[in-house]
Amino acid sequence: MSDRIYQRLREHLAYLKLGAAAERLASALEQAEQDKPSYTRFLHDLLAVEVRATEQRRLDGRLRFASFPAHKTLEQFDFDAQPSLDRRLVEELATLRFVQEKANLLLIGPPGVGKTMLAIALGIKAVNAGYRVYYTTAADLVARTTRAAIEGRWQTTMRFWNGPQVLIIDELGYLPMPGEAAAHLFQVISRRYEHGSVILTTNRGIASWGEIFEDTTVAVAILDRLLHHATVLQIDGDSYRMRGHRARLQQLRQGLDAPTTNRDDQGFTTTPMSSPRSRPS
Ligand code: ADP
Ligand code: MG
Repeated sequence: MSDRIYQRLREHLAYLKLGAAAERLASALEQAEQDKPSYTRFLHDLLAVEVRATEQRRLDGRLRFASFPAHKTLEQFDFDAQPSLDRRLVEELATLRFVQEKANLLLIGPPGVGKTMLAIALGIKAVNAGYRVYYTTAADLVARTTRAAIEGRWQTTMRFWNGPQVLIIDELGYLPMPGEAAAHLFQVISRRYEHGSVILTTNRGIASWGEIFEDTTVAVAILDRLLHHATVLQIDGDSYRMRGHRARLQQLRQGLDAPTTNRDDQGFTTTPMSSPRSRPS
């Protein structure tokens, strides 16, 4: 009796694309002859094989999509080598509450202090937790958006930047951003505002963002949206509370003729992620 049914069962599993279960079927049946599990247990165990395979496939897919330039983990990060870094704040970030809250993370520091490593390590944590993450550099983001605009694909590209739950924008500030490029970056940041997290790394302190953008208005507008719900990690020195950054943004803003936002009164949210030990500056 069972040969024909077994064949049909294999076909059903193949038709439903349950490849891992199909592959396990023969040995699972053999084992069941000995162990005599309940019907429920047997089906449960067989489908669990398929669930694990699917989870792994999706995880691999999210990792490939994320396009990390290297595989770095938080476990590899040597906190002793970076005593100025607020370790508890990093550990808090690693809980990914900021991703859930669609908040941002700004990593500031000179080259080589581990900004990219931390961004990737948190990105990998997010991938493992099931979030869609995408890594890009500021230069690449702007180049691709500019090309898309020329080729009439601007909307599609903007939708793409809006897709991932975490967008890592690495290395802002190494290249100056002329007006149009800055406008593209502003659009990306602004559309993601309260919609998805941005992890941004930069070698420039907030006070000198006016120089990156050659246009202080755009710098202020970008910072306004980025910092509204954000944690800021200064890697070479202190990890600041938002107040310090608010003062710097205010300085930058004072250089402007006209106010560009209506959020002056709200200030920045000091998120629960800011550890009690992080010092205001
Ligand atoms: P940044 O982006 O700030 O310029 P990177 O993250 O690229 O710096 O770090 C430079 C190199 O040093 C990378 O290979 C990185 O993995 C390593 N690195 C930096 N800081 C640490 C650290 N605290 N522990 C372990 N490796 C580190
Ligand atoms: Mg880097």
